[in-house]
Amino acid sequence: MPEERPRFYVLPSLPYSYNALEPYISEQQLTIHHQKHHQAYVTAANQILERLDKARKENADIDMRATLKALSFNIGGHLLHSLYWSNMAPAGKGGGKPGGVLADRIEKEFGSFERFKKELSDTAIGTEASGWAALTLCRQTDRLIPMQIEKHNTNVYPMFRILFVIDVFEHAYYIDYKNNRGEYVEKFWNIVNWDEVDKRLQQALK
Ligand code: MN
Repeated sequence: MPEERPRFYVLPSLPYSYNALEPYISEQQLTIHHQKHHQAYVTAANQILERLDKARKENADIDMRATLKALSFNIGGHLLHSLYWSNMAPAGKGGGKPGGVLADRIEKEFGSFERFKKELSDTAIGTEASGWAALTLCRQTDRLIPMQIEKHNTNVYPMFRILFVIDVFEHAYYIDYKNNRGEYVEKFWNIVNWDEVDKRLQQALK
């Protein structure tokens, strides 16, 4: 029998301590981001699921348009943050250049790691208002394709596997970098967990 999974979302714990990303992301910034912002998406997604459960039980009408719009935003927020935490590594252990299959694929697709970094940085810096820069894999072409996500769920390529994300909501960097998103993105490259991104790519290629 397959293991039964929980029917509601749970805030994952971080794979490192709250001060592990300093000096690139401060303990205060990371703590609030994880405990307040990520938690809020988990709570909201679960409340919407509970409302759906209740309406079904009572066979009551529910505004599907508003409900699903909010559900998509909050589940998107939860899943993207979960990936964001895991694609970062403690200062001194992350950053540098990727190896493995990822390095070959980046070279093949972008021509060089520098070009890849530039495109993903521009994707992050150019995201309108709040959102994410992501690296995705298209299984039909096996190409690595950048994705610029507005909010948590707009501009998403359906079915593409998301391998790596940079959070560019102001709540991700404002305590440390104020309105200087460019500096945050530049510093972010020091704490990327390339081994984890490579692992996700190899899993997605299977
Ligand atoms: Mn965030």
